[in-house]
Amino acid sequence: MYANKFRLDNRVAVVTGGGRGIGLAICEALAEFGAEIVIGDIDPAVGRAGRQKLEAKGYKATDHEVDVTKPDDVERFAQTVIGRHGRVDILVANAGIARSGTAAEDVTDEHWLHVNDVNYNGVFWCNRAFGRHMLANGGGAIVNIGSMSGIISNRPQKQTYYNASKAAVHQLTSSLAAEWADRGVRVNAVAPTYIETEMTSYRNDNDGMIDVWLRDTPMHRMGQPDEIASVVHFLASDASSLMTGTTVVADAGFTCW
Ligand code: NDP
Repeated sequence: MYANKFRLDNRVAVVTGGGRGIGLAICEALAEFGAEIVIGDIDPAVGRAGRQKLEAKGYKATDHEVDVTKPDDVERFAQTVIGRHGRVDILVANAGIARSGTAAEDVTDEHWLHVNDVNYNGVFWCNRAFGRHMLANGGGAIVNIGSMSGIISNRPQKQTYYNASKAAVHQLTSSLAAEWADRGVRVNAVAPTYIETEMTSYRNDNDGMIDVWLRDTPMHRMGQPDEIASVVHFLASDASSLMTGTTVVADAGFTCW
């Protein structure tokens, strides 16, 4: 009875930014439980490489080029996927960028708008396009990737634009959840701590940065992509059927202090 709630057989799952990092781990987790995977990534080479890694493990996957900052592109992506697969049951709005390290007083218009365009507007365009389909189809599960940065202000790196964009993702998640709850579409978010991916590799170019991060983390370690993927899997599956509008914090205790 309980194990079945975690199965995703015959479900189609779209993962934006699914070609690498946390997104690719999410694809693998959902595929392992039976979902058919659709990767949407801005870089076709990254999307293709991700798809090939999934296929090498015996999973069913396709990859598509999409820039989540462009609403028309996102609509086209949704129509193509729905046309090809007939349905989409799960959306993981994971694509995001950080561009950390610029003080608020020095941020250019381009910098602010770009980060918010990918992290926040992009999440909404994807939720709107796939959410509309799920509402018409009688249900679905959406998981947005927020961040603990939407709850705290990171140090020592400066990144007001990133922190604000992720707080917006959490609020967007609960507002959409409230609108769609009685029509079968659940919307939740995950707020990770520092995870070892390309995005956080800048720590190696900044002396002492990692020491501050680990000192501020009760578990004194960074996370791995699979530790976020398993939380996303839970929220995408029927095991979390009573949950909507929640941001699940997976932060090694960071927000306890
Ligand atoms: P990565 O940089 O490793 O991967 C991000 C993926 O998103 C890449 O494949 C990237 O494509 C893709 N992407 C970027 N911009 C767009 C766009 N406009 N349209 C479509 N795809 C795009 O990041 P992570 O795996 O570390 O991060 C994944 C998510 O997790 C992000 O939302 C991030 O903010 C969040 N997060 C990450 C944390 C961390 O410590 N790593 C902590 C908390 C949250 P390309 O390869 O071409 O760049």
